[in-house]
Amino acid sequence: MSITAPVLAFHYERGGIHLPDWGLWLDPHHRVQGSEVAFVSHAHADHTGAHREVILSQATQKLMRARVAGKRTEHVFDFGTPQAWGPGTITLHPAGHILGSAMARLESKGQSLLYTGDFKLRRGFASEGCEPHPSDILIMETTFGRPHYVFPPTAEVIAALVEFCRRTISADEVPVLLGYSLGKTQEILCALGQTDLRVMLHGAASTMTGVYAALGQSMPTYAEWDPAAARGHVVIAPPGAAVTRLEASVGKVRKAVITGWAIDPSCRYQYQADAAFPLSDHADFPDLLEFVRQVNPSRVYTLHGFAADFAETLRELGYDARPLSEPDQLTLPLGRTQSAR
Ligand SMILES: [Zn+2]
Repeated sequence: MSITAPVLAFHYERGGIHLPDWGLWLDPHHRVQGSEVAFVSHAHADHTGAHREVILSQATQKLMRARVAGKRTEHVFDFGTPQAWGPGTITLHPAGHILGSAMARLESKGQSLLYTGDFKLRRGFASEGCEPHPSDILIMETTFGRPHYVFPPTAEVIAALVEFCRRTISADEVPVLLGYSLGKTQEILCALGQTDLRVMLHGAASTMTGVYAALGQSMPTYAEWDPAAARGHVVIAPPGAAVTRLEASVGKVRKAVITGWAIDPSCRYQYQADAAFPLSDHADFPDLLEFVRQVNPSRVYTLHGFAADFAETLRELGYDARPLSEPDQLTLPLGRTQSAR
């Protein structure tokens, strides 16, 4: 898909946003090796690649160094400080998704484009607060872009999670909380740090928490992975961790998956877990709408998850919106300045 707009012309190619006039890719899925530069919004694996030259925040630099081998030229931008680039400026703003996650705001000749990467509006325990800025063009992620994705208050979810852990421990079983090692682990750890529950981190969960601590984030105390000593602890492990092997080494476990998809009743079966709790690093449906209100764009492009559905919702609300990441499912004419093909 090619988007023609003066100054901020971009193409959607191979899952990334390409701005040829800026020599820039936003979260490209492929390796950028030529003279062009990749903006890496955050250090999750689907956003990092072995690019030759990158723009990123300081925390993303440290997290990416811990996860992606090899050397690369790094342009580390502070949040909120415009940097001259190509035909204009690039400013990074916190996205609130995980530590260091950044939105990129490009400005040139009085026009602005905001690219969100992954974001959430709710304040996390271990990430910067999201800072939306009014922009003319908005390219946003829409993972939970259907109306039934409404997350309960965080305090309520954590109370239920703590109750699950206590009940499991009193039954002399080990609670295993399945959450991604980068971001989700640290949120759960900080939430449980406000209780007397003892936490043990599995492999990568511990490595990433070490990087958070090295970046100055205060992390509650936790035990390093030791199956022989797991009894009496809450174990936090990535969803891909070999839980069957874990069961063989620590005895009977009860698993809970921690994800926004927990809103779907089928979630815990899909993860083969005993329970599911909707704590997410992404915005829920009402917060996606609130974000658009705050940015107040004249055009919106949606990406990831329910991109077509959310674009349709926005059009019903009067926005000029269309999906980038799904086949074109427009049911209403765009009117005005339709320029996408
Ligand atoms: Zn992410």
